[in-house]
Amino acid sequence: MIPSPPPNNQPAEPRAPAWQRALREAFSRPRDLLDYLQLDPATPHLASALLRDFPLRVPRGYAARMRKGDARDPLLLQVWPQTREADETPGYAIDAVGDLHRVRRDGLIHKYRGRVLLVATGACAVHCRYCFRRHFPYAEQLAARGQWSAVLDEIAGDASIEEVILSGGDPLSLSDERLGELVEALGAIPQLKRLRVHTRQPIVLPERIDGRLLAWLDRTRLQTVFVLHANHASELDDAVRAALAPLRQRGIALLNQSVLLAGVNDDADTLAALSERLFACGVLPYYLHLLDRVQGAAHFDLPVQRAQELMRVLSSRLPGYLLPRLVREIAGRPSKTWIDWERSAPSP
Ligand code: SF4
Repeated sequence: MIPSPPPNNQPAEPRAPAWQRALREAFSRPRDLLDYLQLDPATPHLASALLRDFPLRVPRGYAARMRKGDARDPLLLQVWPQTREADETPGYAIDAVGDLHRVRRDGLIHKYRGRVLLVATGACAVHCRYCFRRHFPYAEQLAARGQWSAVLDEIAGDASIEEVILSGGDPLSLSDERLGELVEALGAIPQLKRLRVHTRQPIVLPERIDGRLLAWLDRTRLQTVFVLHANHASELDDAVRAALAPLRQRGIALLNQSVLLAGVNDDADTLAALSERLFACGVLPYYLHLLDRVQGAAHFDLPVQRAQELMRVLSSRLPGYLLPRLVREIAGRPSKTWIDWERSAPSP
């Protein structure tokens, strides 16, 4: 069928990619999500008022994986504030991992030897209540497109940098045109070997892995690693598994980092199911992070002894390749800190 011409013979607007349309349709009005999930807004621990400071954003496909009528659903708890989020807890900071002390120039964070983090956008497809960058001043610290040449020059001028980590926000919030341009420029820096993409989008918005994204990945000479972020097996539905397949087929390494979150994944069955499901999706469990102590997220935190205990149980149930490393990020250290769980004393 030949489509009818646009009025006044104007050229038709190019249709936005499916992922951008899905993002526009994401839940952002709290009442809409509660109605969809058949939840009572007066449910005691759900604190809608706190959405004013860090607003709701939940793709519909992600909401569809939540259990209707369950105000303790582990996916819902990641995106909806609980009353305890308003608590001011000593020891929990605005800049939980000291990123602001490691800003080398706007948009470039240099923490560890050999690799730099390029903060290309502050936008995400989902807003996670425990996010360690929830207070990050993106407006001041972003490598906006107009500053990319300065950031690229800085990377090119440091022969010790071999890996660039695209971070954010979520770097896949940028259009493929912009990402293609950026990655092409990175590929032209001779000493760079690897491109790492830290992203939650393939988990919460699997439409994001499309032909346009694969096209710029296919063009780069850089060895590419995707570090995904899933915290619960229910996040990994068949759409996610299918979306990851073309990445795997291209030889892109797929790793996952999760955060240990009270009420979401703080039991051995849940963590074992997560590792199993990740592997079924072609992803290796990489890190299990202790919570970064960011203000507003203390209610998700767990004692380190509990995390060690969980690791001991997991190690007795899973093959070694499905066991993530238990880590904490401590500001100022030259790498993530591995938490020893083998020699720690079992809880009484
Ligand atoms: S940066 Fe990651 S953890 Fe933070 S809100 Fe965005 S997707 Fe969630």
